[in-house]
Amino acid sequence: MKKLALHWKIIIGMVLGVVLGLILSSAGLNQFTSDWIKPFGTIFIRLLKLIAVPLVLVSLINGITSMTDISKLSKMGSRTIGIYILTTFIAVSIGLVLVNIFKPGSGFSPETRQMFAEKFGSDTATRLATAESVSKQGPLQPLLDMIPSNIFESAGDNGAMLQVIFFAIIFGISMVMIDQKKVAPVKAFFQGVDAVILQMVNLIMEFAPYGVFALLASLIADFAGDDPASAIDLLGVLAKYSLVVVLGLAIMAFGVYPLMLKLIGRYDVGKFLKGIFPAQMMAFSTSSSAATLPVTMKQVENELGVHEDTASFVLPMGATINMDGTSLYQGVAAVFIAQVYGIDLTIMQQLGIVMTATLASIGAAAVPGAGIVMLIIVLEQAGLPVEGIALIMAPDRILDMCRTVVNVTGDASVCVMVEQMTGHPNEEQAATIAQKV
Ligand code: ASP
Repeated sequence: MKKLALHWKIIIGMVLGVVLGLILSSAGLNQFTSDWIKPFGTIFIRLLKLIAVPLVLVSLINGITSMTDISKLSKMGSRTIGIYILTTFIAVSIGLVLVNIFKPGSGFSPETRQMFAEKFGSDTATRLATAESVSKQGPLQPLLDMIPSNIFESAGDNGAMLQVIFFAIIFGISMVMIDQKKVAPVKAFFQGVDAVILQMVNLIMEFAPYGVFALLASLIADFAGDDPASAIDLLGVLAKYSLVVVLGLAIMAFGVYPLMLKLIGRYDVGKFLKGIFPAQMMAFSTSSSAATLPVTMKQVENELGVHEDTASFVLPMGATINMDGTSLYQGVAAVFIAQVYGIDLTIMQQLGIVMTATLASIGAAAVPGAGIVMLIIVLEQAGLPVEGIALIMAPDRILDMCRTVVNVTGDASVCVMVEQMTGHPNEEQAATIAQKV
């Protein structure tokens, strides 16, 4: 029998997970799910995270050292960051246009608002506390946060990815700058480690269908809780808001990226969508761009034909700083909260939201739920009531899954565009050599 492709196994795992989750929660067996099924999902996420820090470190160093000179490096670097910022900007703007057209927050009665405040008050308080410590900092704090004083600490439990990226970049640049004979063994070492890490990814991915199965089953159990009917009620009130977010995300994934890929990258959109699908599913089930990174890299290199040099430079950075789905969601959520509270936002205030949501999405960690914490900062900057996040807490888990899909799709499309624009260094060298011969 022909072996079923991995992405089919993952889809089957997802569907079976949802079905089992529904059966168990309607039988009142949520405790069973969290004792016996959830741990397998957690194991899977841990395995993916385990690989994320070494993967970012090693592939960025390899990506940088594959560049033969500093000018090539700065060309690729500036293009990558430029397009990343452009897509984020487009994303928030789409979100703001949609939320202004559909106005999902108007017509919300004060009683409903109160109901949400009561139900999600304590949850809100925890997130507010996290956000408060972030927003109390000085204006240059984000810059300071990027510079590690101890790289082993940065790679520690809650991996400060921007710090790891910073270390990898100066490490890589220094390697390019010194005598190449001297660095040859170091280069070979990192290339070897890279191959080993990719093999580890392959092994972990064998477990993916089971991991995804467990994640979705336990998600359903958590969500439905003891009172599935009231959970569905809450979602009903928020359906319009959730639909606006999902519509915006769909426009990004199926409109903006394909268009950019066609116009800027001159790339076959069908091939792109097919190749990136497994990474999107992984993003959906893990809600974490960092955990999905190994899969994104694998798909982009193997299925989309991007060379390792480009992928290992563009993707690890993108997973951390480019979050189009998150920024779009923050734009919609901020204006939605304003609408619920009956606050009219001026154009200038909305432009302010575009700026802060862009920055907040760069600062958001690539882990589940990071977007809603950074949203608090967007709300504060815009002078909106931060307790408003209690309103949008209910569908956040699902929206997190969807926005992570867009975050990952965005990284992959920018990666393809950069590859198409920059060309492949080694290939160019080969072409020049061939011309000379
Ligand atoms: N979960 C998202 C990600 O990892 C971040 C967010 O919460 O928006 O890409």
